[in-house]
Amino acid sequence: MNRVLLKLSGEALAGDKKTGFDEDTCVAVAKQVKTIVDKGVQVAIVIGGGNFWRGRTSNKIDRTKADGIGMMATIMNCMYVSEIFRTEGMDTNVYTPFACGTWTKLFSKDEAVADLNAGKVVFFAGGTGHPYFSTDMTMVLRAIEIEADCILGAKAIDGVYDSDPAVNPDAKKYDELSISKIVDDRLGVIDLAASVLAMENKMPMLLFGLNEEDSINKAVSGEKIGTKITV
Ligand code: UDP
Repeated sequence: MNRVLLKLSGEALAGDKKTGFDEDTCVAVAKQVKTIVDKGVQVAIVIGGGNFWRGRTSNKIDRTKADGIGMMATIMNCMYVSEIFRTEGMDTNVYTPFACGTWTKLFSKDEAVADLNAGKVVFFAGGTGHPYFSTDMTMVLRAIEIEADCILGAKAIDGVYDSDPAVNPDAKKYDELSISKIVDDRLGVIDLAASVLAMENKMPMLLFGLNEEDSINKAVSGEKIGTKITV
């Protein structure tokens, strides 16, 4: 893999606190990413917003506004993680699909790809810029746009199971799963609209556990880890 899009959930930044940022957790993620950046792998990152806010956090306020708050949460996450990455010696840029003054750059494929070619880690914050979408959709869309080789979905769980392993001790982990099965059976591994976009554009994914030792490095090195989503 030469160019990957890494998706982190917002919760992955929060550690045991489950909300906001846990600095040690974020530094550990940065160190993991640095191992692959140092090998010459180009890395783009999308981060969710669930450690602060999701559109569905409120069923009282207007959904469009609630989703707007969710998109802002992802910007806070990317700004923070980008700065942590810099403290670990990586060069970074944060892109958003709408203007945020001088805090971020307006997304442009050409600029993001130029950054990647220059060895910078790029963050795609602010989701797609539209309500009723998710950061799953953002990850697939941006991965296609920047022509990534693969999406790496770093999760709290170590892959995709046939049932919830927290509830069913006999739950079986898939080594491989086709994107068409995820779509046809509405498996909800990633959101449906994002799954369809990945299927139509043949964008492969590897879903694995972020907390597993050296997991990001193993994922790009082709070691057996997580669940491979084939196209
Ligand atoms: N969001 C949005 N449009 C996007 C991406 C995200 O409206 O293109 C909002 C939405 O409210 C979402 C929140 O940002 O709930 C945080 O994103 P995340 O993907 O973490 O949320 P989830 O998919 O878990 O709802």
